[in-house]
Amino acid sequence: MIYLDNAATTRVSDEVFEAMRPYFCELYANPSAVYSFAGKSMKAVDEARKSVAGLIGAKPNEIYFTAGGSESDNWAVKAAAEAYHTKGKHIITSTIEHHAVLHTCQYLEKQGYEVTYVPVDASGVIRLDELEAAIRPDTILITVMAANNEIGTIQPLKEIGALARKNGILFHTDAVQAYGHIPLDVDALNIDMLSASGHKFHGPKGIGFLYIRKEVCIGSFVHGGAQERSRRAGTHNTPGIVGIGAAARLAAGGLEKRMEKETALRDYLISRVLAEVPLSRLNGHATDRLPNNANFSLSFIEGESLLILLDQQGICASSGSACTAGALDPSHVLLALGLSREAARGSLRLSLSEETTKEDIDVTVEALKKIVARLRSMSPQYEDFLKQQKKDEEKIKAEY
Ligand SMILES: *Cc1c(COP(=O)(O)O)cnc(C)c1O
Repeated sequence: MIYLDNAATTRVSDEVFEAMRPYFCELYANPSAVYSFAGKSMKAVDEARKSVAGLIGAKPNEIYFTAGGSESDNWAVKAAAEAYHTKGKHIITSTIEHHAVLHTCQYLEKQGYEVTYVPVDASGVIRLDELEAAIRPDTILITVMAANNEIGTIQPLKEIGALARKNGILFHTDAVQAYGHIPLDVDALNIDMLSASGHKFHGPKGIGFLYIRKEVCIGSFVHGGAQERSRRAGTHNTPGIVGIGAAARLAAGGLEKRMEKETALRDYLISRVLAEVPLSRLNGHATDRLPNNANFSLSFIEGESLLILLDQQGICASSGSACTAGALDPSHVLLALGLSREAARGSLRLSLSEETTKEDIDVTVEALKKIVARLRSMSPQYEDFLKQQKKDEEKIKAEY
């Protein structure tokens, strides 16, 4: 099997799994209990908090463990709206956010909030001039993702953070795709809240965190016990927390080297596909993109069929179309770039990891070439296109 869907989830590293193992059957105490047996678990939770905070230049007491990226996004956006509603009810976001942010904003619109969805350019970078123009006296929150999960484009966080700070507006970023993959510093980027999730960087699923800057006063999302300084109730998921801590430690070590290696492999993949698969285009930014993300549009190809045939060759990939209620909806992200519905349906996302090899890429490109040719040979639209192309060529010849 060749796994090229690391933007959907990653394999738990062996080191991470080994770090977690004792916290299931041996050190199973509730970390909040008073006996010394529990102290060992609480110590592990504290250590993990330090590791997680260290990677973004945060203080450990600004980290709140949650059940993942979706919960962190929901908490940040809903709690900010609630806490600052006396100042205003206007929120700014982008058109290409993950649904965890977009659907939360839509929910708030039903509660009487106003949301401005700032567009992106053709490579998926938010239009800063439009973002600035959207700011109003009643704007309480700017929430823009650090890097996009489909096309990998990295957003100008520093500029967004500066705009938010200048105007006294909270800045939240969904960094689920970026954390552990590229350097992030909450102070340098003026980030007030940041969401991340363990399973996107070789940690376990169902654990994430929300960074909340010390000065930010938002309420709790899960009410109940006094865990996480009374801001997120619920018995600590000790194995999960230990896992995300270990994954953060691993990600921090050799981040630059890993980025270099992944970027080289990504660019090798991109150049081979663009050169060897006819009528293919790269989606997203050429250079300001996640080291592990490649996203293509392939004309006259239907994404779902492509994925099925790749799967038959043992290749796990993803497409920018989501099957909702039996209908194939092209991705909102690809449409926001200005792609036609057809181009958005014929997209392919290949997301690499540190474990991906050059051989994996070579096998994938060879398979892709064959599959694309086969699917096109069955496409009436492609046949029409070839006929038209031939006609055009003959016309040009006749004219000379
Ligand atoms: C995966 C992802 C999420 C959701 O994270 P979960 O931990 O799966 O809930 C949110 N935002 C982005 C950008 C993601 O890639």
